[in-house]
Amino acid sequence: MHIKRKKTRQIHVGSVAVGGGAPVSVQSMVNAPPHDAAAVLRQVRALERAGCEIVRIAVPDRKAAAAFAAVREKARVPLIADIHFNKELALLAIEAGAHGVRVNPGNLGGAAAFRAVLAAARNAGACIRIGVNAGSLPRDLLNKHRGPRPQALVEAALRFAEIAEKKKFTNYKVSLKASDVTATIDAYRAFSKQSAAPLHIGITEAGGAFAGGVRSAAGLGVLLADGIGDTLRVSLAAPPAQEVRAGWLILDALGLRHCGALVVACPMCGRAGADIAPLVRRVERHVQGVRAPVKIAIMGCPVNGPGEAREADVGAALGRASASIFKKGQVIKKVPKDKLLPELLRHIDDIVREAESQ
Ligand code: SF4
Repeated sequence: MHIKRKKTRQIHVGSVAVGGGAPVSVQSMVNAPPHDAAAVLRQVRALERAGCEIVRIAVPDRKAAAAFAAVREKARVPLIADIHFNKELALLAIEAGAHGVRVNPGNLGGAAAFRAVLAAARNAGACIRIGVNAGSLPRDLLNKHRGPRPQALVEAALRFAEIAEKKKFTNYKVSLKASDVTATIDAYRAFSKQSAAPLHIGITEAGGAFAGGVRSAAGLGVLLADGIGDTLRVSLAAPPAQEVRAGWLILDALGLRHCGALVVACPMCGRAGADIAPLVRRVERHVQGVRAPVKIAIMGCPVNGPGEAREADVGAALGRASASIFKKGQVIKKVPKDKLLPELLRHIDDIVREAESQ
């Protein structure tokens, strides 16, 4: 499948290009207490290691703005301040060097407050995300569309974008978060027909790691396959590094980017020599953060295992007593099952080193 991406206007969030054909970037959001600069910075570092390309931090009050400023001095990844209700906090974050500010102009205190933020962002070279949300749409649009329907989100976003454009401010991207997956898809599809603004895509309140990952993959997968989306966040009620992993896996599944080390596993059937799930988790932990495009397969039996996983770089197939280690579909070694893990990790490290040196 070839995905033809919609050409949007390009902006930059710090060093990361968003839109205009740039690779779809992966974002996440810190959930450490926003007043605790050390805790926030620790999480920013963990997200950097996990491959997060843009990190968002909530700034709910002045104390959090001070912590944001401290983190901004040390973080390597571009930072976005997430602001609601209070334009002063947006101004403080911009002053602190935020690479971008996410605001919902619908709850910022009116058009004048939004314009003040735009002016400060322009002076500082920061970008703005116009984040429209079904929960805070202008009253007239709610009445007109009889509720927070996709078209109401689209009109709200266009209205706020027009305010920015009138101020000759084009360094913005847009997100439209509806209450469910299909409404979100409808809103992004409709908006992207009417605007060249780069789009931040995401499914709001998606759920825990499993349900949220599935709902996000369904929603974001449809949009990305349509060519819509320049940067994404998978929102999960889970550690933020898992959001990053999920984002990369979605992009990898669609062939839009490579997620680094990919661990695949068979679903297991009656032929399985052992429960492979613990081994899969252990290997996934081991390769977390590996950026080289290597594929590792864990198969439940030696009968079909290596053949089924022919395109994997390295893998293991478990028998009842022993396990086979294979490379590129060929068995290279048999080991007792209790020796499998260290042996497999050694071969994985070799293949990662090879890939990284290429
Ligand atoms: Fe079943 Fe073996 Fe295939 Fe796994 S690899 S699904 S255990 S036949």
